Amino acid sequence: MTRRDDLLQELGLWPRWTLRRREQATTPSAPAVSPLPVAAADSAPPAAAGHAPDAGGDARAARIAGLAWADFAADVDGCTACGLCRTRNRSVPGVGDTAADWLFVGEAPGADEDARGEPFVGQAGRLLDAMLAALGLARGRNVYIANVLKCRPPNNRTPEPLEVAACRPYLDRQVALIAPKVIVALGKSAANALLEREATIGSLRGRVHRLGTIPLVVTYHPAYLLRTLADKAKAWEDLVLARRALRAAGDEATPREPG
Ligand code: URA
Repeated sequence: MTRRDDLLQELGLWPRWTLRRREQATTPSAPAVSPLPVAAADSAPPAAAGHAPDAGGDARAARIAGLAWADFAADVDGCTACGLCRTRNRSVPGVGDTAADWLFVGEAPGADEDARGEPFVGQAGRLLDAMLAALGLARGRNVYIANVLKCRPPNNRTPEPLEVAACRPYLDRQVALIAPKVIVALGKSAANALLEREATIGSLRGRVHRLGTIPLVVTYHPAYLLRTLADKAKAWEDLVLARRALRAAGDEATPREPG
C-alpha cells in the first residue's frame, strides 16, 4: 500500500477513491465516459467582468481588478469593506500554485483557518487533501485553494450577501490571475456565490457550469462529506466530471494575466 493509500484509508476513502487508470478513473459503479453534461446557460457574467456593486464601490473593485499577486495578500489583509475585519484573527487570501489548472473554492475560513491564515487546514482540509490526492494532485501543485470570503464569519455562520459582494472582487482577481482550466465549487454556499443564484446542491451537481469561459463543477463541501459518508461516491463522480471538463477545456482556457 502506498502512502497515499494509507491516507485515503485513514479517511475512509480507500479503496473506493483509488484511481484505476490515469486516463479514465471511475468508481466501480460509475458509467463509462459519456458526453460532458453541460448546464443550460449560466447567468454568471465572465470572471472579473462586473457583478453587483460591491460594498466598497466601483473604484475599489477596479483597483482590486488591477492587483498583482505581490500585493494581493496585503490588500486582503488591509480590507475593511465589511465588518468581518473586526472579528477575524487573520485574513485567509488563498494558497497554492498561482498558475494552477485547478481552482477549488470553499465558503469561508473556519476557526483553524482564521488562526493559521491558510484555507482548509482543519478536518475538512484533511479530507480536501485526500480528494486532491485521489486525483493525483496535491495542495500547491497545480492546485489553488481559495474561499468566497477571505475572513471568518463569527461562529462560522453562513456568509451574508453583503459580505459575499464585498469580497467578490478578490475572488474575481484570483480567477483572472490564475486563469484555471477548471473551478470546483465546494458546497452550496460557494456554488451559489460563484454562480450568483440560489439553488440546491442537488440541482447544481452533475453538470458543467461556466464562470465566464471557465468550466465550473459543483460538489459537496468536505465538512458535509465528513458527516455524510454515503455521498463521498457522488463527490468522486463530481471530481471525475471536473477532470473531464478540464481536459475538454484544453487550450480554450482564459489566457493568464501577468501577475
Ligand atoms: N470551510 C471552508 O469553506 N473553507 C475553509 O477554508 C475551511 C473550511
